Amino acid sequence: MLLTVYCQPPVNRQEEEEEEEEEEEDDDLSPYIPCEDKMAAYVLNISRIFSRELISASFQFHRYRSCLQRLPAVKPNPLSALLTQQFGSSAPCWQEVEVHAAQTADRYKQTPWVYLDSEEYVERYGSSAVWAGYRRNHKGGIPPQKTRKTCIRGDKICGNPCPICRDPNIIINHQNVKLLQQFISPHSGMVYDPTLTGVCMKQQKKLNEAIDKARDDGLLPFQIPHVDFSGEDYSNTHDAVGLTSPPPFLGPSEPWYKWYGEITPDDKKVGQVKKIYKAYLKH
Ligand SMILES: [Zn+2]
Repeated sequence: MLLTVYCQPPVNRQEEEEEEEEEEEDDDLSPYIPCEDKMAAYVLNISRIFSRELISASFQFHRYRSCLQRLPAVKPNPLSALLTQQFGSSAPCWQEVEVHAAQTADRYKQTPWVYLDSEEYVERYGSSAVWAGYRRNHKGGIPPQKTRKTCIRGDKICGNPCPICRDPNIIINHQNVKLLQQFISPHSGMVYDPTLTGVCMKQQKKLNEAIDKARDDGLLPFQIPHVDFSGEDYSNTHDAVGLTSPPPFLGPSEPWYKWYGEITPDDKKVGQVKKIYKAYLKH
């Protein structure tokens, strides 16, 4: 409709302008435009403003499209298909998107714990954990017993990536203590099972290694179950542990044990033993 209005210059105006001087055409023509032309120009201006707004909106959408695809809280935009069809030839926008994504990744790559305190994180997750509210898509009513091996294979990202894979700003590091604490139970000190958090097995392995290293470095506390120790376990007063005291009744000629003097050895067996060890006996 806009094109038809734009392509309807009245014939009378051309005839009138041919009579006028050429210098007047270079000046502002608005006072000389007839009523119909004013309407056409007005509609044209509106169409230009509308198209400019559409272009800027599509640019903003393309700019954050990579993040929107991987994060959960974003609602699907029905205009995306229309915008990509109308303004699909936006190669420079994609290049800027890649540059912008690379800059944000580099920004948190060195100090990944800064993202946990940023406004961007608070706006996205609030005060809840990263994995809160995540639900994996699966067939049937029973969820799978294991999480998937990995969410990203080369350039391919699965449709519903895990809470760590879906946000490129979340980087597992042993110094990223606030992130690691979200995967540790505050009551038992145990690392949450991946079936609860939904983290894929590849990221869970990194997570366990980071938690172990953080505990080794003293960044995370060890939580050991409480046991009431009894003093008997560490005393040396037990008969099997303590020193044997000498018997007070022991005289100089008495044997150590009473039964030792009461034994009368068999002469036949003593003779056999003496015969065997004859070469080693002095007498
Ligand atoms: Zn994953």
